[in-house]
Amino acid sequence: MRKQDFSPTVLDFGPVQFYLARHFGFCYGVENAIEISYKALEENPGKRVFLLSQMIHNQEVNDDLQCRGIRFIMDTDGQHFIDWDELKPDDVVIIPAFGTTLEIQNLLLDRGLEVQKYNTTCPFVEKVWNRSQKLGEENYTIIIHGKPRHEETRATFSHSSQGGPSIIVKDMNEAQLLGEYVLGKKSREGFFEDFAWKHSEGFDPQRDLQRVGVVNQTTMLATETQAIADFFRQLMIDRFGLENLKEHFADTRDTLCYATNDNQDATYQLLESGADLAVVVGGYNSSNTSHIVELCERKFPTYFINSEREIKSGSEIHHYNYHRKEKMISHDFLPTKNPVKIVLTSGASCPDTLVDRVMLRLLEFFPETKALEEVIRQYA
Ligand code: SF4
Repeated sequence: MRKQDFSPTVLDFGPVQFYLARHFGFCYGVENAIEISYKALEENPGKRVFLLSQMIHNQEVNDDLQCRGIRFIMDTDGQHFIDWDELKPDDVVIIPAFGTTLEIQNLLLDRGLEVQKYNTTCPFVEKVWNRSQKLGEENYTIIIHGKPRHEETRATFSHSSQGGPSIIVKDMNEAQLLGEYVLGKKSREGFFEDFAWKHSEGFDPQRDLQRVGVVNQTTMLATETQAIADFFRQLMIDRFGLENLKEHFADTRDTLCYATNDNQDATYQLLESGADLAVVVGGYNSSNTSHIVELCERKFPTYFINSEREIKSGSEIHHYNYHRKEKMISHDFLPTKNPVKIVLTSGASCPDTLVDRVMLRLLEFFPETKALEEVIRQYA
């Protein structure tokens, strides 16, 4: 029952009230990946332990792993810190929760490295790969709704390309652009310019856009994926007729993971809280966190921060504008009213302790608040 309840938890400190999302923070995949990483360190004293790239999109967790001796081979954009040639068969390589491409997996195997023992690929990501494979087997072209440079989307694209023609669209604008090619309104040459490096090898826009199915990166906005799937469905009806829809469109449910769904549903409930502002905690390159921010922005002034250290004082906060991909400074972010209502939540790659620390930091700016023990007693 509780799992179905998405209403926020209200912590009433008197002059300030926090509306905590019912679901936030670490998901199964992230917890599992972190556990395996620490195990890899423990089980391999004296060996070099590498992570293909950031374990999760959270700086604090990644810093801690690095302090304990783990080294990153690449950054999130695929730029190398360590050359493949530096790796020796005796090294330990951990595959992160997003999974990796078949090309990288084969490259590691060719160098004699063991890749399964510390493979932390989340089962929900593997589920998308399986779904893509099935679409490929049924001769559908796989349209992946995802961020083209995100590790997970690159991994999914690599796996799905083995099964059938695949193409990535990052948003509805790109879906509509691809729609022009489905309807044959744009030239073949234009396709290879518009979707350069986002389609599988040998993709033929005339042949491969007649029968499609949509999957997504597990952390996209559910409503956007649904809108994109609906768009392609309608396009196929327009082109081939409703009676032939099944031949041209695979009716897939979205492939979001449970954590993304729960966190987004809980955020929709937060939007009804009538709060004065929202503080969202998470890594600045975290896809799922950016979608929670996007939802909160529809209703409140929203501050996306990666730790309590970004709250410089009761009147100054440093936060991230993910639309412009830059840090910003805002003043007077706390309204002068009583009580101030603050929505507080975090993404799937954010430890809960960080949310605690942000709440405790914010409490410093309100006089005569009730004691924490008293406030949380009702939930004990
Ligand atoms: S966000 Fe979802 S898919 Fe990604 S690691 Fe967590 S549970 Fe797995």
